Amino acid sequence: MFQKIITRFPPEPNGFLHIGHAKSICLNFGIAQDYQGTCNLRFDDTNPAKEEQHYVDAIKDGISWLGYAWDKECYASDYFDQLYAWAVRLINEGHAYVDSQTPEEIAAQKGTPTSPGSASPYRNQDPKEALRLFEEMKAGKHQEGSYVLRFKGDMASSNMLLRDPILYRIMHKPHHRTKEAWCIYPMYDYAHPLEDALEGITHSLCSLEFQDNRELYDWVIENTAVTTRPRQYEFARLNLSYTVLSKRRLTELVQDQHVSGWDDPRMPTLAGLRRRGLPAAALRDFASRIGVTKSDSVVEMALLEHCVRDHLNKSALRRMAVLDPLKVVIENYPEEESEELEAVNNPESDADGTRMVPFGRELWIERADFMEDPPKKFFRLAPGREVRLRYAYYLTCTEVIKDSSGNVTELRCNYDPATKGGGSPDGRKVKATLHWVSAAHAVAAEVRLYENLFTAETPGAASGDMLDDINQDSLGILNNCQLEPALGETGTGDTVQFERQGYFAADPDSTPDRPVFNRTIGLRDTWAKVQKKEG
Ligand code: ATP
Ligand code: MG
Repeated sequence: MFQKIITRFPPEPNGFLHIGHAKSICLNFGIAQDYQGTCNLRFDDTNPAKEEQHYVDAIKDGISWLGYAWDKECYASDYFDQLYAWAVRLINEGHAYVDSQTPEEIAAQKGTPTSPGSASPYRNQDPKEALRLFEEMKAGKHQEGSYVLRFKGDMASSNMLLRDPILYRIMHKPHHRTKEAWCIYPMYDYAHPLEDALEGITHSLCSLEFQDNRELYDWVIENTAVTTRPRQYEFARLNLSYTVLSKRRLTELVQDQHVSGWDDPRMPTLAGLRRRGLPAAALRDFASRIGVTKSDSVVEMALLEHCVRDHLNKSALRRMAVLDPLKVVIENYPEEESEELEAVNNPESDADGTRMVPFGRELWIERADFMEDPPKKFFRLAPGREVRLRYAYYLTCTEVIKDSSGNVTELRCNYDPATKGGGSPDGRKVKATLHWVSAAHAVAAEVRLYENLFTAETPGAASGDMLDDINQDSLGILNNCQLEPALGETGTGDTVQFERQGYFAADPDSTPDRPVFNRTIGLRDTWAKVQKKEG
């Protein structure tokens, strides 16, 4: 019989989604799409101490941004009544008991993987007594930690998870959805398989750490008389170099203010990557390229960067922006005049057309595009040297103006009006093409440059503390950037290419007077490579 495929993505709303979750999302939603099935979003909200509505909202945002739509929006807390009823049934049938030992006593009886555990003194409790205590737990008569409901498993099992796992615990904490209705909460290992069954999940795809849980899930299902049982398939979690993908560690980075928030563009969260300017399509592409395996590995950050460049190269509009400006005055260009020159929006796509860029007597060029005494292989502007201004004219430097301490403050130049558009009528060759911005029309902006948040491939590998490997220079702020006017209108979320520099996205901190851009990723810098080689 044809069976419709139903998958689910089951996040705990105790943090923002990260790129590791994206792997799981693309897998679960992707499989449902491929087989005309559906995928549920199920919040595993069984621990009110750490969960918040604000995280629920962020998770929904992240999934939608990635380009997926869930069928049902479900919550573990929707099933609290049913889960409680099944727990009562387990008690009545002698499969569960209430233990009043301390957590330390319970831990000490667990045994080790090579030696069996020992039975709790409450293991053979009368089911009536167990039920009475469980009802009291629910009624709020007992303190946190004083009683737990345990499953009567197998204290000698080689699978430690089967040694009488805890099913319910007392927590006198309000829940973000059920508020004060409950003060006992089911454990994940109990709730999870039953939720899957209740939703008719056919394929439960989860990361490898749940391999041992499968046996426990099967026990829970068998003993609660649920009829549908999903098949569980495990896959390796994504690890990515130069970052951390654990909500506990990401929470620490946020709480201790090593970053500005969950959506800091240096964070590997979906919110951070989005704010940084990564296209969702590039992330989906990344997820499909890394594939799904059962072997643990660390994926190179360089692969993610490759996917991002690949997408942006085709989709991002080209614009001109000068990050570290040096003034150029064109002495033979008429004063008080300006003109509009045609510039191509994206050479990779005919559909994106052209725009007009203002040009005038005073320009900004990149400080690094000029050297007074250039070494061999530096082909950009230098005294007496001619270069091309992109989409504009040939330009020759005639004089260098300096301040009293010898810093170059301005270049005096001449242009050749016969080279309009950047071509030479007499076949004269120049070796460099520079980007520029007309000083009279420029929009001043702030640009934020990002490097990896960590200096080590595996943060914390050497010392055990990720903070020892944190990159102190992961954020650089440039305050005096000069943009071509079209960039003043870039919407938040649009990623553009600043010609010769890289890809940049307008940040939500932008104001109408002062745009703020985040560097998504640089272009490969051939000059840096040459310098390195000659180093
Ligand atoms: P963390 O360890 O970061 O707290 P988690 O697994 O506790 O992650 P959940 O909210 O439970 O976070 O994650 C929801 C789903 O996402 C889980 O089913 C898990 O398998 C999957 N997932 C989490 N991290 C990764 C990862 N790095 N790679 C692939 N899948 C992941
Ligand atoms: Mg989890």
